[in-house]
Amino acid sequence: MTSTRWNRRIQIVLIAAGLAACRTPHLQEPPLETGRLAESWYAGGADCARTPQFRIHEYNHEFLIIRQAACTNFEKPFLYLIFGHDRALLFDTGAGKVDVASLVDSLIYQWLVRHDGAVMPLVVAHSHAHGDHVAGDSQFVHRPNTVVVGRDTGAVRAFFNIGRWPADTGIIDLGGRVLDVLPIPGHQPASIALYDRRTGILLTGDTFYPGRLYVRDTAAFAVSIDRLMKFVSRHRVAHMLGAHVENKRTPFQDYPVGTVDQPDEHDLDLGRAQLFELDSVVRGMRGRMSRTVMKDFTIWPLP
Ligand SMILES: [Zn+2]
Ligand SMILES: [Zn+2]
Repeated sequence: MTSTRWNRRIQIVLIAAGLAACRTPHLQEPPLETGRLAESWYAGGADCARTPQFRIHEYNHEFLIIRQAACTNFEKPFLYLIFGHDRALLFDTGAGKVDVASLVDSLIYQWLVRHDGAVMPLVVAHSHAHGDHVAGDSQFVHRPNTVVVGRDTGAVRAFFNIGRWPADTGIIDLGGRVLDVLPIPGHQPASIALYDRRTGILLTGDTFYPGRLYVRDTAAFAVSIDRLMKFVSRHRVAHMLGAHVENKRTPFQDYPVGTVDQPDEHDLDLGRAQLFELDSVVRGMRGRMSRTVMKDFTIWPLP
């Protein structure tokens, strides 16, 4: 090869590399905030009288993961409390009869003490409208400086300023902390995922978690999983955290419906590989969804 050809080839390679760098989305972004997940999220225990209603885990000081104790409700859902400079957001309010408002009050109080603040307004939003995620709503309706987002699609769409449902993405700024809001109907019509740009955590509710992925609208679910997959491909996602754990650590096994004590639970977080696997299996079903047991979850269409 002549030196001119070599030079031309090198030029082409350099231009291609430059274009690739321009397309790489994360170069200009600040680093993600770090945090720590728990080794185990065990929420069981035989002694209910001595077990607190909630277990609190600080991913970091401003991103709290709350797990409801098994003694209070077999669903043992996860709730999330996220702090910005101007507002905090509570994602889901629990299952059954538990005093979630007192817990949130104390956590907000601790945050205010730490930051020498006086008031922290609260937004109460939901991963979706099922009863095991909204049971504590009434405790917040008359709370000062609090907005409880409605549970139906129209209310969610209006509050997060989502143009076309479910194609568009909404946004909420808590003050120095922007969350993206993705409509993901299929499990339930008003299902959403929340993406925290500061930690890179994507909250996926009952749509994607280590357990039984109940699907009521198969067509909508397929589109939603595809939407999640595209989002994850284009963003820095550190963890995907859902609202329950029903699988065991043993692959392809889950605890039966209604199990209270789950000593050998699967981890809470799932990764890209599992989401891509779900997407490819759902695509392959071409709308004819059937119950399918996978390593970390089960696709479970409902009649
Ligand atoms: Zn649900
Ligand atoms: Zn649920």
